[in-house]
Amino acid sequence: MTQQVDNKMENKIINIGVIGAGGRMGRMLIEAVQDNPQTKLSAAIERQGSSLVGADAGEVAAVGLLNVKIVDDLTAVINDIDVLVDFSLPAATEQNMQICAEHKVAMVIGTTGFNEQQEQALAAASKKIAIVYAGNYSTGVNLSLKLLEMAAKAFGTDADVEIIEAHHKHKIDAPSGTAYMMAEAVAQARGQNLKDVVVYGREGQTGARETGTIGIHAIRGGEIVGDHTVMFIADGEVVEITHRARERMTFAAGAIRATTWIVQQEAGQYDMQDVLGLNK
Ligand code: NAP
Repeated sequence: MTQQVDNKMENKIINIGVIGAGGRMGRMLIEAVQDNPQTKLSAAIERQGSSLVGADAGEVAAVGLLNVKIVDDLTAVINDIDVLVDFSLPAATEQNMQICAEHKVAMVIGTTGFNEQQEQALAAASKKIAIVYAGNYSTGVNLSLKLLEMAAKAFGTDADVEIIEAHHKHKIDAPSGTAYMMAEAVAQARGQNLKDVVVYGREGQTGARETGTIGIHAIRGGEIVGDHTVMFIADGEVVEITHRARERMTFAAGAIRATTWIVQQEAGQYDMQDVLGLNK
């Protein structure tokens, strides 16, 4: 894409649709759209039967009247949208990817907990449209991934790696998408396939720890927004890389930043490191 086109896109207001507009992240995303001078909320979608259908999306998100009514059918508003932002449920996101692919609408997806079929649906949709898919949209986490890569390369399998994540009691999947991303960053840097080396929690007669495995442990409670610690436990020293999200706005602002980047990309699957230029 030429510099000329880039500049043109920079000046264009991007019309954003938000899926799961009444959800914890949905409300934040609407606020973040309002805070970003390059974006405008053009559609807000909830599941069929939601009591929020017909309500004003701005009032639901407590940012004031926006004159955007929440609807329950994405196809009814798809032509008003440049980028669909989807932080909802895997099954809902799977359907939305098909609709966006048919209508050539770019997506920013934050939904976590995809199964293999949903991963395949993502790969298929990203052949037709540009999609940013990230288990975490914060700048700090994406920077942490780079630090993890460095640490994993330096230690190799001399250090035992254990990942501990903590989230609020409402979260319905475990481990978190971010914990997977962190484990994947370590495995890749060590030339391993994560599926072959991951160990989830431990109980009973586990036997001694196998060299090269990566342990992941999930804590759930209260209103913790999202904490992740990766321990590199070597002989005589321990390195810990920790990220703590203080508020959901971190993720929402990152996702809306991603919308302004994805509208300039060709069809394909991208992540937040691409958006931040950390993959160059
Ligand atoms: P949440 O509060 O439960 O919000 C999900 C919203 O989606 C709800 O309003 C839900 O409506 C709605 N929804 C469900 N099915 C739908 C459908 N078919 N069409 C439209 N809307 C539908 O959950 P959350 O805490 O916001 O998290 C949502 C997702 O984002 C989770 O997968 C979470 O792990 C992920 N997340 C990702 C990041 C990141 O940076 N990538 C950060 C935070 C969260 P009802 O409540 O009425 O069912």
